[in-house]
Amino acid sequence: MAKKKPPSRDPKTWREATKLVHGGTLRSQFGETSEAIFLTQGFVYDSAEAAEARFKGEAPGFVYSRYSNPTIAMFEERMCLLEGAEAARATASGMAAVTASLLGQLKAGDHVVAARALFGSCLYVVEDLLPRFGVASTLVDGADLDQWRNAVRAQTKTFFLETPTNPCLEVYDIEAIAEVAHRAGATLVVDNVFASPVLQKPLKLGADCSVYSATKHIDGQGRCLGGVILARRDFIDTHIHNFLRQTGPALSPFNAWILLKSLETLPLRVAAQMRNAEAIADALAAHPNIKRLIYPGRPDHPQAKLARRQMTGGGTLVSFEVAGGKQAAFAFADALSIIKISNNLGDAKSILTHPATTTHQRLTPEARAALGITDGLVRLSVGLEDPEDLIEDLRQALSVVERAGLAAE
Ligand SMILES: *Cc1c(COP(=O)(O)O)cnc(C)c1O
Repeated sequence: MAKKKPPSRDPKTWREATKLVHGGTLRSQFGETSEAIFLTQGFVYDSAEAAEARFKGEAPGFVYSRYSNPTIAMFEERMCLLEGAEAARATASGMAAVTASLLGQLKAGDHVVAARALFGSCLYVVEDLLPRFGVASTLVDGADLDQWRNAVRAQTKTFFLETPTNPCLEVYDIEAIAEVAHRAGATLVVDNVFASPVLQKPLKLGADCSVYSATKHIDGQGRCLGGVILARRDFIDTHIHNFLRQTGPALSPFNAWILLKSLETLPLRVAAQMRNAEAIADALAAHPNIKRLIYPGRPDHPQAKLARRQMTGGGTLVSFEVAGGKQAAFAFADALSIIKISNNLGDAKSILTHPATTTHQRLTPEARAALGITDGLVRLSVGLEDPEDLIEDLRQALSVVERAGLAAE
């Protein structure tokens, strides 16, 4: 009888859930079961010669936690396995990751094309920060390929986008946009926060760099900030490694440990949150006091076909417009009992955000209108509670709005 081969020891050959439990683990001489937290700023050397060799990069090992640390290295390696990336660098926050992914590549005279529907701070980096250093930018409607094509200049170095977008959950075609970027000799950076690394793999779709706020689904329990940049090794070596090493937006080893342990349960959490989001979207889509419901997993989503092609599910967020504008949206939010008013997403706790007055209040009313952010729009990040409790909570809050006579405009 032919003996079954034991599973390979190469983590790259494992299936995703296995990678996320065991991938990247570095065990110390104590053989600990759970990954250790190396809360140390630096490392000691057996001799002056050993220090010299390590500083020169001639001997392996860690030097200083601003550049690398065993707990952070475990998190980076586990993220590489999840994303199918050759290299990763962790950062202190998602914004540190986004900023480094752009500034690391750009210099004065360069040009960036970005989708207009960006996370507020990402918009600040593209619109306000980069121009101060001589980097011009053009904002486009991310769903319109011609706008990407027409925005290209001789100086265009990189394209930047988020998909699905915040908060209107529009879906952009990563593969097609990557092709336009590459034909122009530019790179494509994708902020993959809204989809999560479980449901969408930008690098496999042709992006050159994938960035995360690990604060969101990766932690998923609202405990700490973190970020990560993933790309081919040459991209990290050329654009990212030295920038982070010398400017220092380093992730704390403690936070790296939280995020590393969170990866063990990430696929289970995302799958359960997505099932809840699907149930909520279906339960509310036809509600008379909801004017418009947006969920990329529903067939009535404008880019449903594209979403099915490039994501393995519709995600954990549902956005909808409460009939009656701002007053109705506020009354709705205030009437919720289980769902919290906050601005995190991807969390175990369901969270409701009113973008027009919080995350997008910095925009002019015209800019908000161009993005479809009306005064009645709310964004729901669906958590791990029982879906029936969430649906009951949403329905009773909608009836409070109705009884207050706010639903009729
Ligand atoms: C939250 C978020 C960021 C920023 O991440 P932080 O960890 O808060 O710095 C960037 N992009 C998107 C899409 C986000 O949702």
